[in-house]
Amino acid sequence: MSHNYAAILEQIAEHVATADFGTARKADYIPALSDVPDDHFAMVICGTDGEEHAIGMADLPFSIQSMSKVFALALAQRAYGDELWQFVRREPSGSAFNSLIQLEQENGIPRNPFINAGAIRVADLITSRYANPDRSAAEFLAQLCGNPNIRVDNDVYLSEHLHGDRNRAIAYLMKSFGKLDNPVEDVVRAYFKQCSIAMTAREMARACRFLACKGIGLDGKQVIPADETSRINALMLTCGMYDGVGDFAFTVGIPAKSGVGGGIIGVIPGEFSVCVWSPRLDQRGNSAAGIRALEMLIRAIGRSVF
Ligand code: GLU
Repeated sequence: MSHNYAAILEQIAEHVATADFGTARKADYIPALSDVPDDHFAMVICGTDGEEHAIGMADLPFSIQSMSKVFALALAQRAYGDELWQFVRREPSGSAFNSLIQLEQENGIPRNPFINAGAIRVADLITSRYANPDRSAAEFLAQLCGNPNIRVDNDVYLSEHLHGDRNRAIAYLMKSFGKLDNPVEDVVRAYFKQCSIAMTAREMARACRFLACKGIGLDGKQVIPADETSRINALMLTCGMYDGVGDFAFTVGIPAKSGVGGGIIGVIPGEFSVCVWSPRLDQRGNSAAGIRALEMLIRAIGRSVF
C-alpha cells in the first residue's frame, strides 16, 4: 500500500480520542449494547496486497449487528444467483431501517437487503436453502476471516429475542403478503443470531476484504463471483448507512455498511477493506466517531471511489 497508513491511523485515533461528538450515544434498545464503554475505538485496514494496519482495540470483540447483512446477502447470492432479485429490490429506502410503512405500501417486497425487512427476507431465503440457517452467517464469517471460533454472543441474542417485536411485525407483515416462506419465529431467530455475532475490528476488516478483491477471499478462493461482489458494493454505497447514506457518499464516498453496535465496514475496490468501531451513534444510527475516522482516512489518502 502506497500511503503511510500507520501514521494516518495514529492521527485519526488521536483526533477521535479528544473530539466532541455532541449528542451521539450508544444504542440502548438492546441492553447488551449499552454496556460497552463510550471511549472504545478500533480501526483496521486490510490492503488487497496483504498489508494490514490496526489501531486501538482491534482485537476486542463487539456486536456486528447490521454489518452481518452484507455477509448474509453474499450467502443468499451464492444460493440463488439472479433469482434473488425477485424477492428483494435494490433501491435506497429513505426511511428508518426498521420502518413498516413502506413495506405495507409496497406489498411486502423490501426495498433493499440492508433494511431490516430486506435482511429478514434474506434470512428467510437462507433458511430455505441452508442446512443450519442459525449458524450459516457465523460459519461463513469464520471462514472469511480465518478464525474458526466466531460465535454468536448469547446475551446479545437473548436481548434481540426479547426486544424483537418490531422485527417480528416486519416478518408477519411480509408473511401476510405471501412474501415469507418459512415460519416467522424460525426466520427471525436466524436473523437475530446473525446480528448477535461478536467479532473484532481486525476480523471484520479481514472478512470483508473479498469485496475489495473482486470476490477473492483471504485464502485465495473465490467467495462469490466478481460481478456479484460489485453488486454488493453498489448496494453498500446506496443503501448501507441507514438514512444517512447520501451524506456519507458525499462526505466519505466509499461503499460501507454500519451496525448499531458502532461498527462500520467499508472498501475501496482494488485497494483495501476497513473496519472502524466506536459505539456511540449519531442520530441516524451510524457510529459518529466511525464516520469521522473514515472521512479523515479518505482525505488523507486523497481518494474515494469517485
Ligand atoms: N438486530 C438489530 C435489529 O434488527 C440490527 C440493527 C442494526 O444494526 O441496524 O434491530
